Amino acid sequence: MATLILHPGKEKSVLRRHPWLFSGAIAQLDGRARPGDTVDVASHEGRPLARAAWSPASQIRARIWSFDPAETIDHAFFKRRVAASAARRAALPELAGQQGLRLIHAESDGLPGVIADRYGDTVVVQLTTAGADKWRAAIADSLHKATGCARIFERSDAEVRKLEGLEPVTGWLLGEASGDELVIEENGMNMAVDFFAGHKTGFYLDQRENRRRVAELARDRRVLNCFCYTAGFSLQALAGGAREVVSMDSSGPALATARRNLALNPQLDAARATWLEADVFAELRNLRGSGEKYELIVLDPPKFAHTAAHAERAARAYKDINLHALRLLAPGGLLMTYSCSGGITAELFQKIVAGAALDAGRTARIVQHLQGAADHPVDLAFPEGEYLKGLLLQVD
Ligand code: SAH
Repeated sequence: MATLILHPGKEKSVLRRHPWLFSGAIAQLDGRARPGDTVDVASHEGRPLARAAWSPASQIRARIWSFDPAETIDHAFFKRRVAASAARRAALPELAGQQGLRLIHAESDGLPGVIADRYGDTVVVQLTTAGADKWRAAIADSLHKATGCARIFERSDAEVRKLEGLEPVTGWLLGEASGDELVIEENGMNMAVDFFAGHKTGFYLDQRENRRRVAELARDRRVLNCFCYTAGFSLQALAGGAREVVSMDSSGPALATARRNLALNPQLDAARATWLEADVFAELRNLRGSGEKYELIVLDPPKFAHTAAHAERAARAYKDINLHALRLLAPGGLLMTYSCSGGITAELFQKIVAGAALDAGRTARIVQHLQGAADHPVDLAFPEGEYLKGLLLQVD
């Protein structure tokens, strides 16, 4: 096995259990390694530190599998890590028994580059790094053993794979399509999951708890759900007794699934729901011109900053939509606003929204800080894992 030698002092982040090794930390690679191969990691003085996956194409040259430099990275390693991830979720009451559940949340579950979401009897896997890509078969088998699910579908078509020099890969790793629509129950709603073509693995499981919060807040309110995707927040608002719910997204296929989801829940009053296929940036401005007011607005945009380098442009985009949403709020209205950009910290996000409120001339107070659901944990040693942050605001 090849050994990755760090520059003097660069072992500090490893000793703090941070799993990424950037190119600038690496002095040399002793021996030969192909992309995805396991390498030993050693300090400049030769102290063994960890075992990692080598990824020469990426600025993150290596991702640590184990901080025990003697642990063998093999099929059994993945079986242990996958089983431990599943057990952590089973031990949390709000997660046990969820039909839609993130089983593996990459670095924060000790498996960099591995995402696995369970939807009923189907597991959808996304492998985003050279190391994860190499262990596809072991990961699929481990997921099968840990869950008993006989169907595992791979959706490794995320853009980030390009940074690793990897081609997109999609297809069945275990089992095959049943031909039936895949529907999960979440917070009492039936939700169709298009894992073949939907975003990410098909559904945004991270917003489960926050959607439930919307149900609590929506009673008798006029709701605007921006970036609605398949209507997770919209259906909860209807279930919570909203007077009216306007849902907006630029994706036709997402809106088609959104309408389907409304139909899958016939107890809801469909007459209260309106769909708009539109660009949120433009439409928020149009709505202002038409004098519309809302009492609860949800802003859950896509990732505007893919890396910290895009943070400034992203900050402008966040400010823009928050400013225009705040202007549309009726007195006493609520704004639930999110950022899922890794490069935007919770602190920075709050500053951006504060700037938006100032420019909108609205006094706003934080009712609640919001985050992703518990099946998207954040390892304290890996703050980058805290990608989803949100604020619930009440305006005067
Ligand atoms: N809130 C959703 C998830 C939102 S994902 C949920 O609970 O499931 C972000 C969504 O924003 C995607 O559906 C995408 O199609 C949409 N989107 C991206 N850019 C947009 C834009 N400029 N205007 C409107 N929708 C946009």
